[in-house]
Amino acid sequence: ITILGLESSCDDTAAAVLRQTGDGPAEILASIVKGQNDLHAAFGGVVPEIAARAHAEKLDICVEDALKESGIALSDIDAIAVTAGPGLIGGVMSGVMCAKGLAAGLGVPLIGVNHLAGHALTTRLTDQVAYPYLMLLVSGGHCQFLIVRGSDDFTRLGGTIDDAPGEAFDKTARLLGLPQPGGPSVEKAAKSGDPKRFTFPRPLMDRPGCDLSFSGLKTALLRARDALVSEQGGLSEQDRNDLCASFQAAVVDVLGKKTARAIVSYLEEAPAVPLLAVAGGVAANSAIRANLESVCASNGLAFTAPPLSLCTDNAAMIAYAGIERYKAGQRDDMRLAARPRWPLDKTAPALLGSGK
Ligand code: ATP
Ligand code: FE
Repeated sequence: ITILGLESSCDDTAAAVLRQTGDGPAEILASIVKGQNDLHAAFGGVVPEIAARAHAEKLDICVEDALKESGIALSDIDAIAVTAGPGLIGGVMSGVMCAKGLAAGLGVPLIGVNHLAGHALTTRLTDQVAYPYLMLLVSGGHCQFLIVRGSDDFTRLGGTIDDAPGEAFDKTARLLGLPQPGGPSVEKAAKSGDPKRFTFPRPLMDRPGCDLSFSGLKTALLRARDALVSEQGGLSEQDRNDLCASFQAAVVDVLGKKTARAIVSYLEEAPAVPLLAVAGGVAANSAIRANLESVCASNGLAFTAPPLSLCTDNAAMIAYAGIERYKAGQRDDMRLAARPRWPLDKTAPALLGSGK
């Protein structure tokens, strides 16, 4: 099967062409991602209306570029996969409309994909991984532990009760005057900082289960910053680095401890090949990866993380999730709806009405 995937749920417009022959590994023939950081920079965050317009303008170009790079003609595409949610509704609608047009024009199946399933299945795109595996999905808008049992079968073990870690990284960068997206700039500053200078909270540690909370951490950082500013009249570069290092250390610590707890629940199922996979933009952080790897090692689990380019939003993961749905006989039609919320685990109660 040769499949074209589209992604437009947040601030990256993306198209990818993947091919899978038989049961062999899926090959990424092209993966184009066009960001919008420049458009949103002045606003300190993604502006939904601006994002939607940019997606509508860039989708065609991404598709054209992906076809050109892959050397595949539009007439050789067997199916169209598209992110149908969750995400910013204007962007998701742009992608879904574009996909419907392509599928109708070519007379090929249309497959709606959950963006989070795309992140969660990335592991199977890059490695030969069997179900079930344990997944920590940690991104700009989400943070959850999942047992991935199939392309459409997820059990949520726990997750954030407020902010996502990516959001906390972005907020930290904003508070310290570092560039967006915050993850990479905070990670870079943290490399030259002292992680022990400030003691930031590690919430919910005494509560059983693997729920997490990051909003208090953000507030603590704000207080520490304001205290320094009122004492010294400003922040030195070293202060900034130390704040970043101490913040990152708290995130590393909390994710590691809660992962250890998620592992206990997962091992109760006696999986044949115990494995933790991470996905999502925050999984690009090397301190977080290194700690998760050591938590896994001490619990007898293998650990895998996708290459950086497949951690953040991309269409290759959507195309791949599309291949799995296609092979399972799942198809959508012109009634496919764009969904702002779409929890992966159909049995879990929606948290705070946010779909997180
Ligand atoms: P979602 O997938 O939940 O809808 P999203 O699509 O915005 O959210 P991703 O593209 O998966 O999220 O990830 C973007 C987030 O990852 C941003 O918040 C960014 O700051 C964070 N991030 C990227 N690189 C790093 C890094 N090296 N360290 C920490 N965070 C990072
Ligand atoms: Fe994402």
